Amino acid sequence: MDAQTAPQKAVSGIAKTRVTAIPGDGIGPEVVGAVQRILAAAGAQIDWEEAEAGAAVFKRGIGSGAPQETLDSIARNRIVLKGPLETPVDYGEKSANVTLRKFFELYGNIRPVRELPGIRTPFSGRGIDMVIVRENVEDLYTGIEHMQTAGAAQCLKLITEPGSERILRLAAALTLAEGRKKLTCATKANIMKLTEGMMKRVFERIMPDYPAIEPAHMIIDNCAHQMVIAPEQFDVVVATNMNGDIISDLAAGLVGGLGVAPSSNIGDHAAMFEAVHGSAPQIAGRDLANPTALLLSAIMMLRHIGDFAAAEKVEQALLVTLEEGRNLTGDIARKGQGVGTTAYTDQVIANLGRTSAHASRAYKPLTLPDWPRGVWHQAPKAREVTGLDVFIETGTAPAELAAALQAAAEGTGLGLKMIENRGVQVWPALSGQPFLVDLFRCRFLLAEPAENADADIAKLMAAIGAKHTWMHVEKLQRFDGKDGYTKAQGEN
Ligand code: NAP
Repeated sequence: MDAQTAPQKAVSGIAKTRVTAIPGDGIGPEVVGAVQRILAAAGAQIDWEEAEAGAAVFKRGIGSGAPQETLDSIARNRIVLKGPLETPVDYGEKSANVTLRKFFELYGNIRPVRELPGIRTPFSGRGIDMVIVRENVEDLYTGIEHMQTAGAAQCLKLITEPGSERILRLAAALTLAEGRKKLTCATKANIMKLTEGMMKRVFERIMPDYPAIEPAHMIIDNCAHQMVIAPEQFDVVVATNMNGDIISDLAAGLVGGLGVAPSSNIGDHAAMFEAVHGSAPQIAGRDLANPTALLLSAIMMLRHIGDFAAAEKVEQALLVTLEEGRNLTGDIARKGQGVGTTAYTDQVIANLGRTSAHASRAYKPLTLPDWPRGVWHQAPKAREVTGLDVFIETGTAPAELAAALQAAAEGTGLGLKMIENRGVQVWPALSGQPFLVDLFRCRFLLAEPAENADADIAKLMAAIGAKHTWMHVEKLQRFDGKDGYTKAQGEN
């Protein structure tokens, strides 16, 4: 933890850490209450400040799902223990979870996945013990989507160099803090060479800074396969947002599912700890919910605020409870022997002070990578505009479209190089047998480097706009002598 995430201490009495507690929806209040009771019994020095978010807030017409008082509480305390929040389908505009993650730039989603005693799965006995670190704010989840034509939608996959470096350095710091050895960066760099490739390239650039860590790169689909075939090989795995989302759920499934999966969302301004599961409305208010996932998240929180002793005490009590298998909630108990949330919580409390057969890992404080404030900008040494891609909606055949575009380009300094449809070149030569839709990417190149390429582009766009329906334009650029764009399938 660095100075920026240092939690607020209460002013009076013993130094307590003030934490924003969001009970949330459905089973949230029950599991948050259970965890608060266990932490109090363990002597954790926490001063809770309760705050509201979720369904009730949406119903009051607050579209973000989190009122200003809650945002203020988090900004003050910087540490949050959060119950699940319902994402209403009929009202409210955004997910309150996403609001909180984005508002506080909680860029690192940390999801430990390990075999727990007494939780039987097809993988029991394999010794699964890994952490998935998922980038939490970039990628396809920036939510930048546009309809290109009436029947073609596009979502922007945005990956930045600082965003990649920050999550990779967080993953490396976590590897060291948890005394782990290997960091696997899982990407789809073989297909998405610029975006997923960015993550891989930054990984290769920074890993020499961490000689104690064994670096590995794995293609994400193989990573999913390997996680099922040989999950014990993984130690820490880092991935971009959507890939990380999918493999972290897959990994959780190996050790008992979402009901026992904890997580943290970490950023420079705040850290939020929550179970992976949702509000389970079917069992809400019936004393049936299992608080284990949130308890494991709270143990992560205790370590984050530096209370390693309380974290180990609670963790050991939980492990003893699971090992002995007495008074477990219905979802993890032997058939017919399940008890309620309250009785399970009482059992964990009764086991405080006992030591399990499973030693806790030796953790060191996690130091977040130091990150400059302000707008990140890295000017290239050389930049050259070489042309543009124009996305045009039409139902005409490629050859006819090409003739019209060549006519439009006359006198502009730009020439039509190729036309593609859904990534496959269809002009000048047809590559393969693609099914054509009404969205064509038309690539124009400058005949020679131009002093003012924008003027040529504006002239061409005026000519195209007079006769065609275009949706968007991408400038083709070379940065430091390298093409800043990929070729279409079949383009030479
Ligand atoms: P869910 O709430 O995770 O529940 C799915 C099922 O998992 C439940 O019906 C229940 O199964 C079981 N379950 C989950 N947590 C449990 C626990 N602690 N103890 C015992 N059983 C548990 O998933 P969902 O039904 O898809 O989502 C419900 C709502 O939660 C939605 O509004 C969704 O948007 C929201 N959600 C919020 C978050 C978050 O706040 N981070 C995450 C995911 C979903 P049985 O029916 O077999 O008892």
